[in-house]
Amino acid sequence: METNFIDYVKIVCRSGKGGRGSMHMHRAKYVPNGGPDGGDGGRGGHIYLRGNRNYWTLLHLRYERHVFASHGGNGGKSRSHGADGEDRYIDVPCGTVVYDAETGKYICDVTTDGQVVLLLQGGRGGLGNWNFRTSTNQAPRYAQPGEPMREQTIILELKMLADVGLVGFPNAGKSTLVNAISSAHPKIAGYPFTTLEPSVGVVSYRDNRSFVIADIPGIIEGASEGRGLGLRFLRHIERNALLLFMVPADTTDIRHDYEVLLRELENYNPDLLCKQRILAVTKADLIDDELQQLLSAELPTDLPVIFISSVTNYNLVQLKDLLWQHLSAMPDLHHEAIASAVHRDKTLDFLQSELEDEGQDDDIIILDDDEIEDVEEDFDFEDEAEE
Ligand code: GDP
Ligand code: MG
Repeated sequence: METNFIDYVKIVCRSGKGGRGSMHMHRAKYVPNGGPDGGDGGRGGHIYLRGNRNYWTLLHLRYERHVFASHGGNGGKSRSHGADGEDRYIDVPCGTVVYDAETGKYICDVTTDGQVVLLLQGGRGGLGNWNFRTSTNQAPRYAQPGEPMREQTIILELKMLADVGLVGFPNAGKSTLVNAISSAHPKIAGYPFTTLEPSVGVVSYRDNRSFVIADIPGIIEGASEGRGLGLRFLRHIERNALLLFMVPADTTDIRHDYEVLLRELENYNPDLLCKQRILAVTKADLIDDELQQLLSAELPTDLPVIFISSVTNYNLVQLKDLLWQHLSAMPDLHHEAIASAVHRDKTLDFLQSELEDEGQDDDIIILDDDEIEDVEEDFDFEDEAEE
Protein backbone atom coordinates (compact mmCIF):
# COMPACT_ATOMS: atom_id res chain seq x y z
CA MET A 1 0.00 0.00 0.00
CA GLU A 2 1.31 3.41 -0.86
CA THR A 3 1.94 5.38 2.29
CA ASN A 4 2.00 9.12 2.30
CA PHE A 5 2.20 9.76 5.94
CA ILE A 6 5.52 8.44 7.14
CA ASP A 7 6.07 8.37 10.83
CA TYR A 8 8.88 5.83 10.96
CA VAL A 9 12.00 5.64 8.85
CA LYS A 10 15.22 3.73 9.19
CA ILE A 11 18.47 5.21 7.95
CA VAL A 12 22.01 3.91 7.84
CA CYS A 13 24.32 6.72 8.85
CA ARG A 14 28.02 6.83 8.43
CA SER A 15 30.42 9.61 9.25
CA GLY A 16 33.53 10.19 7.16
CA LYS A 17 36.85 8.68 8.07
CA GLY A 18 39.74 10.91 8.88
CA GLY A 19 42.36 11.56 6.21
CA ARG A 20 45.76 10.00 6.55
CA GLY A 21 48.64 12.07 7.84
CA SER A 22 51.39 12.42 5.27
CA MET A 23 54.87 10.97 5.58
CA HIS A 24 56.93 13.24 3.46
CA MET A 25 60.45 14.62 3.40
CA HIS A 26 61.03 18.05 2.07
CA ARG A 27 63.12 18.10 -1.06
CA ALA A 28 64.43 21.15 -2.78
CA LYS A 29 67.32 21.85 -5.03
CA TYR A 30 69.66 23.50 -2.58
CA VAL A 31 68.22 21.99 0.61
CA PRO A 32 69.67 18.52 0.82
CA ASN A 33 68.04 17.57 4.13
CA GLY A 34 64.87 19.55 4.22
CA GLY A 35 63.34 17.49 6.97
CA PRO A 36 59.83 16.11 7.42
CA ASP A 37 56.99 18.19 6.01
CA GLY A 38 54.07 15.75 5.79
CA GLY A 39 50.80 17.51 6.63
CA ASP A 40 47.83 16.29 8.65
CA GLY A 41 44.82 14.52 7.27
CA GLY A 42 41.47 16.30 7.24
CA ARG A 43 38.61 15.40 9.55
CA GLY A 44 35.88 13.12 8.26
CA GLY A 45 32.43 14.65 7.85
CA HIS A 46 30.03 14.58 10.80
CA ILE A 47 26.43 13.47 10.63
CA TYR A 48 23.97 15.85 12.24
CA LEU A 49 20.25 15.83 12.83
CA ARG A 50 18.55 19.19 12.46
CA GLY A 51 15.05 20.31 13.38
CA ASN A 52 13.30 21.99 10.47
CA ARG A 53 9.88 23.54 10.88
CA ASN A 54 9.14 23.24 7.18
CA TYR A 55 8.79 19.52 7.49
CA TRP A 56 5.73 17.99 9.05
CA THR A 57 6.40 14.39 8.13
CA LEU A 58 9.33 12.08 7.48
CA LEU A 59 8.20 11.64 3.90
CA HIS A 60 11.25 13.34 2.42
CA LEU A 61 13.45 10.70 4.07
CA ARG A 62 11.51 7.79 2.69
CA TYR A 63 14.09 6.92 0.07
CA GLU A 64 17.03 8.27 1.99
CA ARG A 65 18.17 4.88 3.24
CA HIS A 66 21.80 5.89 3.60
CA VAL A 67 23.37 9.11 4.71
CA PHE A 68 27.12 9.07 4.38
CA ALA A 69 29.37 12.00 5.12
CA SER A 70 32.49 12.30 3.04
CA HIS A 71 35.97 11.32 4.12
CA GLY A 72 38.70 13.68 5.14
CA GLY A 73 41.43 14.26 2.57
CA ASN A 74 44.91 12.93 3.16
CA GLY A 75 47.64 15.26 4.29
CA GLY A 76 50.22 16.26 1.72
CA LYS A 77 53.72 17.51 1.37
CA SER A 78 54.74 21.00 2.42
CA ARG A 79 52.61 20.51 5.52
CA SER A 80 49.44 20.81 3.50
CA HIS A 81 46.41 19.86 5.49
CA GLY A 82 43.91 17.45 3.95
CA ALA A 83 40.46 18.86 3.26
CA ASP A 84 37.81 18.19 5.90
CA GLY A 85 35.06 15.87 4.78
CA GLU A 86 31.72 17.49 4.15
CA ASP A 87 29.21 17.21 6.98
CA ARG A 88 25.73 15.89 6.35
CA TYR A 89 22.56 17.20 7.94
CA ILE A 90 19.44 15.11 8.22
CA ASP A 91 16.52 17.53 8.39
CA VAL A 92 13.65 16.28 10.46
CA PRO A 93 10.35 17.75 11.65
CA CYS A 94 10.22 19.11 15.17
CA GLY A 95 9.00 16.27 17.34
CA THR A 96 11.24 13.57 15.98
CA VAL A 97 12.58 10.92 18.34
CA VAL A 98 15.71 9.03 17.38
CA TYR A 99 16.43 5.42 18.32
CA ASP A 100 19.29 3.07 17.66
CA ALA A 101 17.93 0.51 15.22
CA GLU A 102 20.06 -2.31 16.54
CA THR A 103 19.27 -2.02 20.22
CA GLY A 104 16.08 0.01 20.23
CA LYS A 105 17.77 2.41 22.61
CA TYR A 106 16.65 6.02 22.73
CA ILE A 107 19.26 8.39 21.35
CA CYS A 108 17.77 11.88 21.32
CA ASP A 109 14.85 14.14 20.56
CA VAL A 110 14.74 16.88 18.00
CA THR A 111 12.11 19.30 19.22
CA THR A 112 12.82 22.80 17.96
CA ASP A 113 13.43 24.48 14.65
CA GLY A 114 17.14 24.86 13.98
CA GLN A 115 18.15 22.50 16.78
CA VAL A 116 21.25 20.62 15.75
CA VAL A 117 22.29 17.31 17.26
CA LEU A 118 25.62 15.69 16.46
CA LEU A 119 24.82 12.06 15.75
CA LEU A 120 28.10 10.66 14.47
CA GLN A 121 31.43 12.33 14.71
CA GLY A 122 33.71 12.15 11.71
CA GLY A 123 37.09 10.46 12.22
CA ARG A 124 39.91 12.77 13.18
CA GLY A 125 42.58 13.23 10.60
CA GLY A 126 45.94 11.58 11.26
CA LEU A 127 48.96 13.70 12.04
CA GLY A 128 51.59 14.10 9.38
CA ASN A 129 55.20 13.26 10.10
CA TRP A 130 55.98 16.94 10.50
CA ASN A 131 54.34 16.68 13.93
CA PHE A 132 56.66 13.97 15.13
CA ARG A 133 59.95 15.80 14.88
CA THR A 134 61.84 15.55 18.14
CA SER A 135 65.33 16.46 19.10
CA THR A 136 66.35 12.84 18.83
CA ASN A 137 64.39 12.03 15.70
CA GLN A 138 64.58 14.87 13.25
CA ALA A 139 63.30 12.85 10.37
CA PRO A 140 60.40 10.65 11.59
CA ARG A 141 59.39 8.24 8.91
CA TYR A 142 55.90 7.62 10.12
CA ALA A 143 52.59 9.40 10.07
CA GLN A 144 49.24 8.62 11.69
CA PRO A 145 46.36 7.02 9.87
CA GLY A 146 43.07 8.88 10.13
CA GLU A 147 40.45 7.71 12.60
CA PRO A 148 37.94 5.29 11.15
CA MET A 149 34.40 6.33 10.31
CA ARG A 150 31.55 5.61 12.64
CA GLU A 151 28.39 3.87 11.56
CA GLN A 152 25.00 3.64 13.15
CA THR A 153 21.59 2.68 11.91
CA ILE A 154 18.89 4.86 13.35
CA ILE A 155 15.14 4.80 13.43
CA LEU A 156 13.34 8.12 13.35
CA GLU A 157 9.92 8.31 14.90
CA LEU A 158 7.71 11.32 14.40
CA LYS A 159 5.53 12.71 17.10
CA MET A 160 3.75 15.82 16.06
CA LEU A 161 4.46 18.76 18.23
CA ALA A 162 1.31 20.75 18.52
CA ASP A 163 0.11 22.91 21.34
CA VAL A 164 -3.43 21.63 21.18
CA GLY A 165 -4.28 18.09 20.22
CA LEU A 166 -7.81 17.23 19.22
CA VAL A 167 -9.12 14.01 20.69
CA GLY A 168 -12.34 12.59 19.38
CA PHE A 169 -13.99 9.80 17.48
CA PRO A 170 -14.26 10.06 13.71
CA ASN A 171 -16.91 12.57 12.66
CA ALA A 172 -16.66 14.54 15.88
CA GLY A 173 -15.92 17.61 13.79
CA LYS A 174 -12.17 17.86 14.32
CA SER A 175 -11.14 18.68 10.76
CA THR A 176 -13.95 21.14 10.39
CA LEU A 177 -12.84 22.96 13.52
CA VAL A 178 -9.21 23.11 12.40
CA ASN A 179 -10.36 24.65 9.14
CA ALA A 180 -12.68 27.07 10.90
CA ILE A 181 -10.23 28.53 13.38
CA SER A 182 -6.82 28.23 11.76
CA SER A 183 -5.25 30.11 8.90
CA ALA A 184 -2.20 28.21 7.72
CA HIS A 185 -2.63 24.56 6.93
CA PRO A 186 0.61 22.70 6.45
CA LYS A 187 -0.22 19.84 4.16
CA ILE A 188 -0.14 16.39 5.62
CA ALA A 189 -1.15 13.52 3.46
CA GLY A 190 -3.76 11.12 4.71
CA TYR A 191 -2.98 7.94 6.53
CA PRO A 192 -3.22 5.09 4.07
CA PHE A 193 -5.87 3.19 5.96
CA THR A 194 -8.39 5.94 6.32
CA THR A 195 -9.97 8.59 4.22
CA LEU A 196 -9.34 11.04 7.00
CA GLU A 197 -6.53 13.48 6.62
CA PRO A 198 -4.76 14.54 9.74
CA SER A 199 -4.22 18.25 9.51
CA VAL A 200 -2.27 20.81 11.42
CA GLY A 201 -3.46 24.36 11.62
CA VAL A 202 -1.90 27.52 12.92
CA VAL A 203 -4.43 29.49 14.91
CA SER A 204 -3.74 33.20 14.86
CA TYR A 205 -4.63 34.79 18.09
CA ARG A 206 -4.72 38.40 19.22
CA ASP A 207 -1.51 40.39 19.44
CA ASN A 208 0.21 38.27 16.84
CA ARG A 209 0.24 35.26 19.05
CA SER A 210 -0.41 31.95 17.48
CA PHE A 211 -0.61 28.34 18.46
CA VAL A 212 -0.64 25.06 16.64
CA ILE A 213 -3.63 22.79 16.66
CA ALA A 214 -3.43 19.26 15.36
CA ASP A 215 -6.33 17.17 14.22
CA ILE A 216 -5.49 13.59 15.01
CA PRO A 217 -8.01 11.32 13.37
CA GLY A 218 -9.21 7.96 14.29
CA ILE A 219 -9.27 7.20 17.98
CA ILE A 220 -11.50 4.22 18.22
CA GLU A 221 -12.50 2.11 21.12
CA GLY A 222 -9.84 -0.49 21.91
CA ALA A 223 -7.14 1.46 20.16
CA SER A 224 -4.75 1.30 23.08
CA GLU A 225 -4.79 -2.49 22.95
CA GLY A 226 -3.50 -2.26 19.43
CA ARG A 227 -6.89 -2.91 17.94
CA GLY A 228 -7.65 -0.96 14.83
CA LEU A 229 -5.76 2.09 13.79
CA GLY A 230 -5.77 4.09 16.94
CA LEU A 231 -2.42 3.21 18.45
CA ARG A 232 -0.47 4.86 15.73
CA PHE A 233 -2.54 8.00 16.00
CA LEU A 234 -2.37 8.05 19.74
CA ARG A 235 1.36 8.32 19.57
CA HIS A 236 0.96 11.70 17.98
CA ILE A 237 -0.94 13.03 20.92
CA GLU A 238 1.69 12.27 23.49
CA ARG A 239 3.32 15.63 23.12
CA ASN A 240 0.40 17.98 22.93
CA ALA A 241 0.44 20.51 25.70
CA LEU A 242 -3.31 20.68 25.94
CA LEU A 243 -5.94 18.20 24.86
CA LEU A 244 -9.22 19.34 23.41
CA PHE A 245 -11.75 16.56 23.62
CA MET A 246 -14.50 16.75 21.06
CA VAL A 247 -17.86 15.04 21.36
CA PRO A 248 -20.79 15.92 19.09
CA ALA A 249 -23.90 17.32 20.75
CA ASP A 250 -26.13 14.82 18.97
CA THR A 251 -24.45 11.77 20.43
CA THR A 252 -26.52 9.59 22.77
CA ASP A 253 -24.43 10.15 25.86
CA ILE A 254 -21.81 12.90 25.86
CA ARG A 255 -20.36 11.98 29.20
CA HIS A 256 -20.03 8.34 28.21
CA ASP A 257 -18.20 9.21 24.97
CA TYR A 258 -15.85 11.47 26.86
CA GLU A 259 -15.10 8.73 29.37
CA VAL A 260 -14.39 6.20 26.65
CA LEU A 261 -11.91 8.58 25.05
CA LEU A 262 -10.33 9.20 28.41
CA ARG A 263 -9.96 5.48 29.08
CA GLU A 264 -8.30 4.99 25.72
CA LEU A 265 -5.71 7.60 26.56
CA GLU A 266 -5.14 6.17 29.97
CA ASN A 267 -4.63 2.65 28.68
CA TYR A 268 -2.15 3.90 26.18
CA ASN A 269 -0.17 6.04 28.51
CA PRO A 270 -1.44 7.11 31.94
CA ASP A 271 0.81 10.17 31.80
CA LEU A 272 -1.56 11.62 29.23
CA LEU A 273 -4.12 12.12 31.97
CA CYS A 274 -1.80 14.68 33.56
CA LYS A 275 -2.34 16.99 30.64
CA GLN A 276 -4.86 19.75 30.84
CA ARG A 277 -8.11 18.96 29.13
CA ILE A 278 -11.01 20.91 27.74
CA LEU A 279 -14.19 19.41 26.39
CA ALA A 280 -15.88 20.92 23.35
CA VAL A 281 -19.38 19.73 22.66
CA THR A 282 -19.47 20.16 18.89
CA LYS A 283 -22.26 20.70 16.39
CA ALA A 284 -24.23 22.74 18.88
CA ASP A 285 -26.25 24.05 15.94
CA LEU A 286 -27.98 20.67 15.80
CA ILE A 287 -29.64 21.13 19.18
CA ASP A 288 -31.83 23.91 20.49
CA ASP A 289 -31.18 26.03 23.56
CA GLU A 290 -33.54 24.00 25.64
CA LEU A 291 -31.74 20.75 24.90
CA GLN A 292 -28.39 22.42 25.47
CA GLN A 293 -29.59 23.40 28.94
CA LEU A 294 -30.70 19.86 29.65
CA LEU A 295 -27.44 18.39 28.41
CA SER A 296 -25.37 20.87 30.40
CA ALA A 297 -26.65 19.37 33.58
CA GLU A 298 -25.20 15.98 32.70
CA LEU A 299 -21.77 16.95 31.50
CA PRO A 300 -18.53 15.88 33.13
CA THR A 301 -17.52 18.31 35.82
CA ASP A 302 -13.79 17.71 36.07
CA LEU A 303 -12.87 19.98 33.14
CA PRO A 304 -14.02 23.14 31.36
CA VAL A 305 -16.79 22.44 28.88
CA ILE A 306 -17.86 24.61 25.97
CA PHE A 307 -20.56 24.18 23.33
CA ILE A 308 -19.38 25.13 19.86
CA SER A 309 -20.44 25.00 16.23
CA SER A 310 -17.92 25.20 13.43
CA VAL A 311 -20.76 25.69 10.98
CA THR A 312 -22.33 28.78 12.59
CA ASN A 313 -19.10 29.88 14.35
CA TYR A 314 -20.98 29.69 17.62
CA ASN A 315 -18.54 30.16 20.54
CA LEU A 316 -15.44 29.76 18.38
CA VAL A 317 -13.93 33.02 19.64
CA GLN A 318 -14.68 31.93 23.19
CA LEU A 319 -13.05 28.58 22.46
CA LYS A 320 -9.88 30.27 21.22
CA ASP A 321 -9.89 32.45 24.33
CA LEU A 322 -10.23 29.39 26.52
CA LEU A 323 -7.43 27.52 24.73
CA TRP A 324 -5.15 30.51 24.85
CA GLN A 325 -5.89 31.16 28.48
CA HIS A 326 -4.71 27.64 29.32
CA LEU A 327 -1.75 27.66 26.96
CA SER A 328 -0.44 31.00 28.12
CA ALA A 329 -0.55 29.83 31.71
CA MET A 330 1.97 27.16 30.85
CA PRO A 331 5.54 28.22 31.55
CA ASP A 332 6.67 27.31 28.06
CA LEU A 333 4.30 26.19 25.39
CA HIS A 334 6.34 23.21 24.42
CA HIS A 335 7.85 22.63 27.78
CA GLU A 336 5.24 20.41 29.26
CA ALA A 337 4.74 18.53 26.08
CA ILE A 338 8.37 17.66 25.86
CA ALA A 339 8.80 16.85 29.51
CA SER A 340 5.96 14.41 29.43
CA ALA A 341 7.20 12.52 26.44
CA VAL A 342 8.19 9.24 27.95
CA HIS A 343 11.39 7.88 26.60
CA ARG A 344 10.81 4.25 26.89
CA ASP A 345 13.47 2.42 25.01
CA LYS A 346 11.56 0.64 22.32
CA THR A 347 11.81 -3.05 21.96
CA LEU A 348 13.24 -4.06 18.64
CA ASP A 349 10.16 -6.12 17.91
CA PHE A 350 8.01 -3.04 18.27
CA LEU A 351 10.18 -0.90 16.04
CA GLN A 352 10.41 -3.67 13.49
CA SER A 353 6.66 -4.12 13.34
CA GLU A 354 6.18 -0.39 12.90
CA LEU A 355 8.63 -0.40 10.04
CA GLU A 356 6.83 -3.33 8.49
CA ASP A 357 3.68 -1.27 8.60
CA GLU A 358 5.56 1.37 6.66
CA GLY A 359 6.64 -1.21 4.11
CA GLN A 360 10.25 -0.88 5.12
CA ASP A 361 10.73 -4.40 6.40
CA ASP A 362 12.89 -5.27 3.42
CA ASP A 363 15.47 -3.26 5.11
CA ILE A 364 18.37 -5.61 5.53
CA ILE A 365 21.23 -3.53 4.36
CA ILE A 366 22.82 -4.74 1.22
CA LEU A 367 26.06 -3.03 0.43
CA ASP A 368 27.10 -2.94 -3.15
CA ASP A 369 30.66 -3.83 -4.11
CA ASP A 370 31.92 -0.29 -3.96
CA GLU A 371 30.65 0.13 -0.47
CA ILE A 372 32.18 -3.13 0.68
CA GLU A 373 35.53 -2.06 -0.65
CA ASP A 374 35.04 1.18 1.10
CA VAL A 375 34.40 -0.53 4.39
CA GLU A 376 37.25 -2.93 4.05
CA GLU A 377 39.75 -0.45 2.82
CA ASP A 378 42.42 -0.47 5.39
CA PHE A 379 44.43 2.37 6.65
CA ASP A 380 47.90 2.72 5.36
CA PHE A 381 50.22 2.17 8.23
CA GLU A 382 53.17 1.96 5.92
CA ASP A 383 55.24 4.95 5.18
CA GLU A 384 53.99 6.78 2.18
CA ALA A 385 56.33 6.32 -0.71
CA GLU A 386 58.57 9.28 -1.00
CA GLU A 387 57.76 11.45 -3.89
P1 GDP B 1 -13.62 14.53 12.04
O1 GDP B 1 -13.72 13.14 11.58
O2 GDP B 1 -13.65 14.62 13.53
O3 GDP B 1 -12.49 15.28 11.43
O4 GDP B 1 -14.98 15.26 11.61
P2 GDP B 1 -15.23 16.25 10.39
O5 GDP B 1 -14.71 17.60 10.71
O6 GDP B 1 -14.79 15.61 9.13
O7 GDP B 1 -16.81 16.37 10.43
C1 GDP B 1 -17.66 15.25 10.28
C2 GDP B 1 -18.99 15.69 9.78
O8 GDP B 1 -19.63 16.57 10.71
C3 GDP B 1 -18.88 16.48 8.49
O9 GDP B 1 -19.95 16.10 7.66
C4 GDP B 1 -19.04 17.92 8.91
O10 GDP B 1 -19.63 18.72 7.91
C5 GDP B 1 -19.96 17.81 10.10
N1 GDP B 1 -19.73 18.91 11.05
C6 GDP B 1 -18.58 19.31 11.56
N2 GDP B 1 -18.73 20.34 12.40
C7 GDP B 1 -20.05 20.60 12.40
C8 GDP B 1 -20.86 21.55 13.10
O11 GDP B 1 -20.43 22.40 13.87
N3 GDP B 1 -22.22 21.50 12.86
C9 GDP B 1 -22.76 20.60 12.02
N4 GDP B 1 -24.07 20.63 11.86
N5 GDP B 1 -22.03 19.69 11.36
C10 GDP B 1 -20.70 19.68 11.55
MG1 MG C 1 -10.95 14.64 10.18
